[in-house]
Amino acid sequence: MSPRAPVPPPAARPPSASDDVDRAVAVLRAGGLVALPTETVYGLGADAANELAVRRIFAVKGRPSTHPLIVHLSGAGALESWATAVPEGARRLAEAFWPGPLTLVLLRTARASDAVTGGQPTVALRVPAHPLALEVLARLGGGVAAPSANRFGGVSPTSAEHVRADLGPEVDFVLDGGPCAVGVESSIVDFSSGSPALLRPGGVSREALERVLGVLVPTRSEGGPRAPGTLPSHYAPRAGLVLAPREALAARAAALAASGRRVAVLGQLDGLPAGVVAYPVPEDAVGFARELYATLRAIDEAGFDVIVAAPPPPEGLGLAVRDRLERAAAPRKSGGG
Ligand code: AMP
Ligand code: MG
Repeated sequence: MSPRAPVPPPAARPPSASDDVDRAVAVLRAGGLVALPTETVYGLGADAANELAVRRIFAVKGRPSTHPLIVHLSGAGALESWATAVPEGARRLAEAFWPGPLTLVLLRTARASDAVTGGQPTVALRVPAHPLALEVLARLGGGVAAPSANRFGGVSPTSAEHVRADLGPEVDFVLDGGPCAVGVESSIVDFSSGSPALLRPGGVSREALERVLGVLVPTRSEGGPRAPGTLPSHYAPRAGLVLAPREALAARAAALAASGRRVAVLGQLDGLPAGVVAYPVPEDAVGFARELYATLRAIDEAGFDVIVAAPPPPEGLGLAVRDRLERAAAPRKSGGG
């Protein structure tokens, strides 16, 4: 056997995940935008060291430039180059949950540019649990700044098709890693003022965070521009969203349908009036989180005017699902974006 087997020309090889990773890395290095699969939602990524590329993320999303982005890393080993101080609690959470749906907010080093942090003294850092994203990050050797790959204010994408439908040719490359396993965004824990605070509930439950830290992790929702995922109206489908306790859902749906609107119910429910359509979602919080965004999108595609939903109990991933439903139901300034 010859020590140098001839390498077939690229066109002769079938496309593979490894070709796609090559392409994603090349596009990022050239300053382009890549939609990256993660376990939470798809991200719209740029090389965090390339300010022009990072600024394009804001333009494509229609996101205000003061809203900071999460920097995605290939491992916790890179923490020190992005954060000046890593408190013991932050290190413990990183050890317990990375790679995974946890974002740490820490005081930044100069490596985190103003374009990424919105000019704040803090940076948000995460190691995503998706093999393709991790491969891209390891090969790139730096950080990828990425918010969710959808238009600002709208429903986050949990599949490559969602990204294409939202952003189309404005993304230079969509790396298809299949449907997202967690389905809601990461939990954001802020350590920048010493003690931990939950800025956004997400894929790691508050109970799990508190178990590892051994202290309570209070919610801190300041609103304002610091974290877009904490604005009152966000994650919103095109259809209006009305929340009601489960036992009142059927009556609410009937009243809305009687007023002439096309009504969908999020979840399986018996005894619905004619014309009201139920979109089943799993009853458990983990399943509900995984299916939430894809189901809201399916309802929008079918052209309903209003969605009625019952928020799950605020335990485990139920807290994140409730948070997203409440923000999607909040009054909108301009149709939800
Ligand atoms: P997105 O997935 O587009 O909603 O963006 C990720 C979330 O991380 C947003 O809610 C950001 O505002 C939040 N985030 C990023 N950097 C910071 C930071 N330095 N402080 C607080 N939140 C941040
Ligand atoms: Mg988002």
